[in-house]
Amino acid sequence: MSHAKLTEEFLKNEPKTDWHNETLWWVRSKRDVSSKGIPEWEELRSLASQIKDNVLSNIGNYLQEFEKNALANGVHVHWAEDGKEHNRIVQSIIEKHNAQRIVKSKSILTEECHLNQHLESNGFDVVDTDLGERIVQFAKQPPSHIVLPAIHMKREEVSELFHEHIQTEKGNSDPQYLTEAARNHLREKFLKADIAITGVNFGIAETGGFVVCTNEGNADMGVHLAPVHIACMGIEKLIPKFEHLGVFTRLLARSATGQAITNYTSHFHQPRPDQEMHIILVDNGRTKQLAREKFRNSLKCIRCGACMNTCPIYRRSGGYSYDATVPGPIGSILSPGFDLKKHKSLPFASTLCGSCSDVCPVKINIHEQLYEWRQVIAENGLDDMPKRFSMNIARKVLSSPKVYFTLGKIARKSLSILPKSLINNPLNAWGKQRDLPNPPKESFKEWYKKNRS
Ligand code: SF4
Repeated sequence: MSHAKLTEEFLKNEPKTDWHNETLWWVRSKRDVSSKGIPEWEELRSLASQIKDNVLSNIGNYLQEFEKNALANGVHVHWAEDGKEHNRIVQSIIEKHNAQRIVKSKSILTEECHLNQHLESNGFDVVDTDLGERIVQFAKQPPSHIVLPAIHMKREEVSELFHEHIQTEKGNSDPQYLTEAARNHLREKFLKADIAITGVNFGIAETGGFVVCTNEGNADMGVHLAPVHIACMGIEKLIPKFEHLGVFTRLLARSATGQAITNYTSHFHQPRPDQEMHIILVDNGRTKQLAREKFRNSLKCIRCGACMNTCPIYRRSGGYSYDATVPGPIGSILSPGFDLKKHKSLPFASTLCGSCSDVCPVKINIHEQLYEWRQVIAENGLDDMPKRFSMNIARKVLSSPKVYFTLGKIARKSLSILPKSLINNPLNAWGKQRDLPNPPKESFKEWYKKNRS
């Protein structure tokens, strides 16, 4: 279904749409205040962008360096070409350890690979331990935002879900009470876990180590208690050296939520003496995106979510309207690379105002890439028939002054006598929420001739 069609569903609840819009704008404003507290903010953005340029140009070398150092640290390294292979590897590790109970901290990559569905259909119990992720897991929904997975839900809805799943008091939506209940519920899961799965925010080629950033410490709780740790990492998450890490951690939390740093920035280098550690390096379409010259920059993304918080379309259409793991402006340039036909409406879900590019901490030219995708879609004949038809007519009319002025005259006359229902009717999507002003009696050219000649 197109983005516009799915948006209609979200817009049905107008007060909630307003609340979603205002909440994300509040997060965006916090990001502004926080970034202004760093005088060298723009230099940091440029530096991060250049470091990622270097990574993308030498990704093969950095991946090999990372693998060599991780192996030397005693970590098992696996390579997955796509989501299916990634899921098979995770399952094989689980089966090798005869494990049943799995705790997972937030990882967009595992969402992208549909890991939960794969493991659950094979009889394993997977518990998402990030609070927002647990909420959407109870609701049997995917995350609607990459940093704030349950941002589309109000606390009264969370209260209902918690009452149903973890038997909290009916109608009690006090955030402190609900958080406490979730903490007790998850603590038991951590204590019994056989395997902990985490994502990776940054993999460091120089050391073979990696960093996981969370605000709840749930990744650490899982990893510190479970005998096996599986870290799932997209191949673009690499940075060359340890000294580069500070550039990204200073940008990430400020861009995401306006915090100076995430509450937990956990470094992993090697397994504990009694633990096994695995890293799965996943491609899943990333090398294809790397080969697309105009779109390769999108692989610089550090998944901060700032482009979503600032986007006027995302804020008023919600994450589910994108029908993709990564929604919002960055999702709209990543998803067409996976499936152009399915996601052909996404590059048009933008005003091209450029606010996404302005806030992006790694300076991805998001709005320019959205525009590029629109051209690719038109070149492949995937744009809407009515739009293509009307654009062809517009091209003919606008390229001939004579036709333009004649049609202008006819349109002004007709619009002043024809009934408004011709424009504002349910069959005309444009006219559903718009009104045309009364047409002028004469064109500007005619007026100018009369008054200024
Ligand atoms: S594209 Fe930029 S702003 Fe958007 S999530 Fe990625 S890093 Fe953040």
